[in-house]
Amino acid sequence: MSEPAPSVPRILEGKTGVILGVANKRSLAWGCARSLADAGMKLAFTYANERLKAAVDKLAEECPGSITLPCDVTQSDEVKAAFETIGNEFGGLDAMVHAIAFARREELQGNFFDTSKEGYMLAHEVSAYSLTAVTRAALPLMEGREGSIVTLSYLGADRVVPNYNVMGIAKAALEASVRYLAADVGPRSIRVNAISAGPIRTLSASGVKDFGTMLDRIAEKAPLRRNVTAEEVGDTCLFLVGPHSRGITGTTIFVDAGYHVMGL
Ligand code: NAP
Repeated sequence: MSEPAPSVPRILEGKTGVILGVANKRSLAWGCARSLADAGMKLAFTYANERLKAAVDKLAEECPGSITLPCDVTQSDEVKAAFETIGNEFGGLDAMVHAIAFARREELQGNFFDTSKEGYMLAHEVSAYSLTAVTRAALPLMEGREGSIVTLSYLGADRVVPNYNVMGIAKAALEASVRYLAADVGPRSIRVNAISAGPIRTLSASGVKDFGTMLDRIAEKAPLRRNVTAEEVGDTCLFLVGPHSRGITGTTIFVDAGYHVMGL
């Protein structure tokens, strides 16, 4: 386990952000939220359905001035309403963290060629297309504020990872979307980047068959000989949202203890 980074100055004081994808304390979205809130950012949290509302409300209490609101990214009216509310409450947005993915459990095991058309479409709608949909909704709120958009990806976008299957294809689409969106919104001084995180035990991760084996493999083979934490992902998110990354857009940064550089 790594030491936590020293406490950060409040470089995001007076700034606002929206975090999509907190399900519980283990969520990577929560790791990002903590880092941004500790740096002074005021946050809006969206939750996918009423089942998550109480948990997200409770976590949001730890972030002063935050609000929570429903937003199932497959429902365009909910996306529209969520960003309208954020506009009314915050007056604008400096950051958006997209930490959302979904694939059916049965598609995260066995042969990739057995992926159903419905499962393929669903994984892509929630995990890849949604970034484009929420970017479009966030744009008017980011105008003139040098906004930053961050999404979460995984090595399965670049390499074959057993059982990751359709989610790997969706992550490849997500990373390509980051590049196209970055080119679209760059002239408005808005940046779009991805963090490719190493495996971390979360609710979604538990859907991938043999997830524990992935963690063991990283701890054995990664240059740093360990796995990474949601806090480390959060601190990279802080870097990508804050002014120190102002020259970076359209890229994917690995936070994986260096595992992606290994050949064998
Ligand atoms: P998580 O805590 O389960 O978060 C995933 C979130 O996506 C949940 O809040 C989930 O809500 C939400 N979601 C699913 N369908 C949605 C929809 N239609 N509308 C809105 N939200 C929806 O898992 P996580 O591991 O932190 O995942 C966050 C991101 O990190 C994902 O993009 C994931 O692929 C990526 N990532 C994770 C790892 C890892 O090892 N954990 C590694 C690399 C990248 P419900 O609970 O209601 O479905």
